[in-house]
Amino acid sequence: MRPWNFSAGPSALPLPVLEQAAQEMTDWHGSGLSVMEMSHRGKHFLQIINEAHDDLRELLSVPDDFEILFMQGGATAENAIIPLNLIGRQGLGKADYVLSGIWSEKSCKEARRYGDVAVAGSSGCASVINGLSQAAFTWFPEPAQWQLRDDAAYVHLCSNETIGGVEFVNWPDLNALGAKGVPLVVDASSHILSRPIDFSNVGLVYAGAQKNAGPAGVTLVMIRKDLIGHALPHCPSAFDYANVAASGSMFNTPPTYAIYVMGLVFKWLKQHGGVAAIEQVNIQKANALYNYIDASGFYENRVHPSVRSRMNVPFFLANEALNTTFLAESEQAGLFQLKGHKSVGGMRASIYNAMPLEGVQALVSFMQEFERRHG
Ligand SMILES: *Cc1c(COP(=O)(O)O)cnc(C)c1O
Repeated sequence: MRPWNFSAGPSALPLPVLEQAAQEMTDWHGSGLSVMEMSHRGKHFLQIINEAHDDLRELLSVPDDFEILFMQGGATAENAIIPLNLIGRQGLGKADYVLSGIWSEKSCKEARRYGDVAVAGSSGCASVINGLSQAAFTWFPEPAQWQLRDDAAYVHLCSNETIGGVEFVNWPDLNALGAKGVPLVVDASSHILSRPIDFSNVGLVYAGAQKNAGPAGVTLVMIRKDLIGHALPHCPSAFDYANVAASGSMFNTPPTYAIYVMGLVFKWLKQHGGVAAIEQVNIQKANALYNYIDASGFYENRVHPSVRSRMNVPFFLANEALNTTFLAESEQAGLFQLKGHKSVGGMRASIYNAMPLEGVQALVSFMQEFERRHG
């Protein structure tokens, strides 16, 4: 049996996807070619990329007034590409950022190079939330308290902080918060396709593929069409959303193999009932793990219960001296990559779409057994 892979990213892919890619490696659908060897402008690859665009639109019910773009450079490049494309929209060069962890902090820092960037709200300090004492970046700043500028070009947030394990899904209507007509821009890298997206309050959603959608190398951008076409003059042509949209994500050679494998993941998701169905599995998985951790005095999750991520579950052993043993023994038991991010410490289990309930149950069984022996 293959090990259960809890890596935060690049992360596990569904086994049937890997097997199909292996089977088609040297000859895609009788073409005589590997997908890696095909012209990106030929009919075979055009079919692959068009189906991937269509399947993503179907899976997330992306509205018609949104363009779907496949880009390169990861979410990190989008941290620059977004201000380059949007911040000059009304000629003022202003953008507001909500900080909820390491990834949103990085986005904000990069954007400062391109304009007047302000922090709308931050959970980067300790606070008391509904009676619970919370450390920095274990809670999410309340939208009603965001300091918004009504002349900002956009407001940015990260809806799933992969490192801190904080997920925020009640994306507010910024009109109701006094920022009339200001679009919300969301980094959904580590929970895209794990649950439905409500597009009514957003202007742009982006995600690197390698957490929950496919291999590294392709970045998903879903952008409302009226936000395209406002790039700053020095925006690189390959990163100008107008060029990418006009060329069907083929302004230059796209990452063909990564798009192909991501397309297989989309087909796998559709076969399993789509996003609404996988969401139910994700809820079961997250409940199984959090319920066990909460009931145990041996393990602890420190994120406020209202914003705990279904995808990334950081946890600590009460006795941190056991960390090394826990990691060694879990690996021996076929449970890989449970070490927490160095900035948080402890452990982290990333349980994306490709992780079945069975894998989470194997983790919980191991944790119980470890607690029994060391508790
Ligand atoms: C992984 C990750 C990133 C960075 O992605 P790259 O593809 O490495 O640039 C950004 N934001 C979030 C939320 C992530 O999980």
